[in-house]
Amino acid sequence: MTIHSKQVIVGFFYFKRRHALCSRKVTKLITQRDVVNADTINNSATHFINKIIKLLPPYRQRNVLNTDQSGLEIEMVGNRTLSFKGEKATFGKVRSVHNTSHSYTIQFIISLIGQPIGTCYLWLKEKNGYMSDNIKKNLFQAFNVTITYSKSGKLSSSLVKYWIENVLEPTVRNEKVLLLLDSWSGQTDEQLYSKMKHLRLEIIPKKTTAMTQPLDITYNRQYKHIVRTIYDHVRLYDIDCNLSLRNNIIKLTSLCYSQICSKKFILMHRYSWFQGGYLENNPGSYQNVEEICLRFQDYACHENRCDNIPLIQCSFCEKVLCFHHFFVMYHIH
Ligand SMILES: [Zn+2]
Ligand SMILES: [Zn+2]
Repeated sequence: MTIHSKQVIVGFFYFKRRHALCSRKVTKLITQRDVVNADTINNSATHFINKIIKLLPPYRQRNVLNTDQSGLEIEMVGNRTLSFKGEKATFGKVRSVHNTSHSYTIQFIISLIGQPIGTCYLWLKEKNGYMSDNIKKNLFQAFNVTITYSKSGKLSSSLVKYWIENVLEPTVRNEKVLLLLDSWSGQTDEQLYSKMKHLRLEIIPKKTTAMTQPLDITYNRQYKHIVRTIYDHVRLYDIDCNLSLRNNIIKLTSLCYSQICSKKFILMHRYSWFQGGYLENNPGSYQNVEEICLRFQDYACHENRCDNIPLIQCSFCEKVLCFHHFFVMYHIH
């Protein structure tokens, strides 16, 4: 039976309508070589996981760590092939075309016990790689964020060194630590960690991070989901707040990091270690960011006499808050 291309197109149209799907840009194509490589990648992932499992016994679970960097666009637009209609849309309106190319990077640490640890490391892109004393003096102060900057806004060895000295060392001190890192060369130089006598580095094999790096499995996507929801909310309701300003990036990072550190997310964080293959037992079903912070039924903010549209349910105190009471008033735990 021959099927005309028009029939295929019409058929696909019904398929899409039946499943309430709409078209989006395709961003990744799989080649034959990728399929062959998949076996090699699977093997190196399995080999790595088995090696780590053997190493685990002498370490306390809170000292088995994974760290990773994640880039965020200042104006984020989703890139999905198909998404469900009615799903939080990606809004075409951006605050400024200039800002769409801006990005910053954040680095987190998560432990096998299921807890993010240390401060969140935020590095900003600064013109000429320079920040004046005046700017430094007026930076938003957040106890849970360590700030640095560079010209490119991307990671370099000196930024890794700063992270080790200001985030990693003060957090783990002299404890016996196993740190899993991906193979980005700037951070894998053992020399950089030489002062930390009880630290063992293990490098996650190339191309396996999606399967084996706990932060890649759930955390980074969940974190970005909070950030993206706040950006969308500001755009949708035309809130007069420029989230691309340096101090607002710091404040937003601090608030979102605080939210994801709630004990309510321990199972979710632990699950990513289980899914990676490091834990034998399934820690059980967990609730994600959408379920804990965004699926509330309330129509108004919980703060006294505030009738603003709610944005988020705090993962600590469970208050449903509007943008003003969450972001502007800095609702931190
Ligand atoms: Zn709260
Ligand atoms: Zn409010």
